[in-house]
Amino acid sequence: MAVSPKKLGHRAIAGQGARMKRSDVFRAWGKILRGRKPFLSLEITRECPLRCPGCYAYEPEHLGAAGPLRQLADLANEALIAGVLSLVRRFRPLHLSIVGGEPLVRYRELDFLLPKILGMGVEVQLVTSAVRRIPLPWRDLPNLHIVVSVDGLPPEHDVRRAPATYERILKSIAGHRIIVHCTITRQQVQRPGYFSEFAAFWSGQEEVRKIWFSLFTPQQGDHSAERLSPQDRVTIVAALANLRARFPKIDMPQAVLEGFLHPPASPQECVFAQTTACLSADLATRVEPCQFGGDPVCAECGCMASAGFASIAKYKLAGVVPVSGIFAFSKDIGRHFKAA
Ligand code: SF4
Ligand code: SF4
Repeated sequence: MAVSPKKLGHRAIAGQGARMKRSDVFRAWGKILRGRKPFLSLEITRECPLRCPGCYAYEPEHLGAAGPLRQLADLANEALIAGVLSLVRRFRPLHLSIVGGEPLVRYRELDFLLPKILGMGVEVQLVTSAVRRIPLPWRDLPNLHIVVSVDGLPPEHDVRRAPATYERILKSIAGHRIIVHCTITRQQVQRPGYFSEFAAFWSGQEEVRKIWFSLFTPQQGDHSAERLSPQDRVTIVAALANLRARFPKIDMPQAVLEGFLHPPASPQECVFAQTTACLSADLATRVEPCQFGGDPVCAECGCMASAGFASIAKYKLAGVVPVSGIFAFSKDIGRHFKAA
């Protein structure tokens, strides 16, 4: 199966919307009322040893007027540690998503940062290609979720992701308990049994505790072979719903699957985008309108977090008022208080 070289980033996934508890909704709501975004996503470095064809992080439009990611200032050592801690103190997020480039490029700084940030009561998700060994002491850090991006089965993945091949990933994750994440493309849908084969392989690895799927999210003007049709989405949702029974490590709540079928129409309607601050490698440039950057087609969004939030947004507190309405109203109040 040929996969054309188009925008499958490992960087932009986040699971906080997928498993958000009712107590988290209230904590997030409290932050919004105080004029804050409760979730933070950091592109901790612009560097990545991989050159995945068409990675959207390195597309010229990713950071808009700020220019290409590779030209942005990149911090390391004490400057990175101080910068990240300062941001966490400023935003005081409930959840921090660390992406790249490749975050493991900064594993020494993360060795220091992760226990500090977790000690501040922030849940952390680190998204990596697992191109290098994940430091073993991280295994024992509570509330750290390591997400390894795998772009399909070896014939496709190993071509795109070399040197982070299946063989390398299996060595890198040894001794850990990780989450595998796959972005589904049209080519995968067209090959019968693809998801089942993928789920069987990763379910069989003791280091894997969960398997997540997102759907390919196109940018405006993208006519690539990866782009999913509306019927593809229906097929995928049905397939994943069935596979959950056979492979319990697949962690795709019904709310997320339903969210895939009804993505937000615009960033303004996207609870995930509205509640998450995304910053790039200089720790100052905003990634907008969401972690994808550029000009994504929201109506075809396949982000798992956005789908999870979309379903939470429809959830009615006390059975009466939808969470989306409360969040939107509270955002206005929060803005007002911040400005006052
Ligand atoms: S591994 Fe690097 S090049 Fe590949 S998708 Fe991730 S950030 Fe882009
Ligand atoms: S719906 Fe739009 S703004 Fe929200 S995550 Fe998807 S692409 Fe980004």
